[in-house]
Amino acid sequence: MAHSGKFPVRTSNHMEFVDITDQVQQAVTGCGVTDGICTLFNPHTTAGLTINEGADPAVQSDLIGVLKKMVPPDYPYRHLEGNSPSHMMATLAGSSVTVLIEQGRLRLGTWQRIFFCEFDGPRNRKVWWKILHG
Ligand code: ZN
Repeated sequence: MAHSGKFPVRTSNHMEFVDITDQVQQAVTGCGVTDGICTLFNPHTTAGLTINEGADPAVQSDLIGVLKKMVPPDYPYRHLEGNSPSHMMATLAGSSVTVLIEQGRLRLGTWQRIFFCEFDGPRNRKVWWKILHG
């Protein structure tokens, strides 16, 4: 059996990590699924999804700082929209994550949160999700 849907993510900065864990848990709770897996998919080409530490916001700003160092702004990109670094970062972050569901809760590590990674904001974004269960 599967349940699926989507939820909006509004970003307010050019680069930003938005904690979407509560929205994902709401989707799980709304389905009444107690045991299964939840896959999240980001349908945008200049954004990503990742799981990382949520307790210290310095981790998110460090990730943004390191991604900016990793992706050269002055590379001779052939994509001339002006947002090529954002496309590069989207691939580095990846476009989906999967989380286990046990006892009706997302089974994340103690310090883990799920983040929508904005690399070309601010924009109105969305995340698609599907829950599979027995
Ligand atoms: Zn582009």
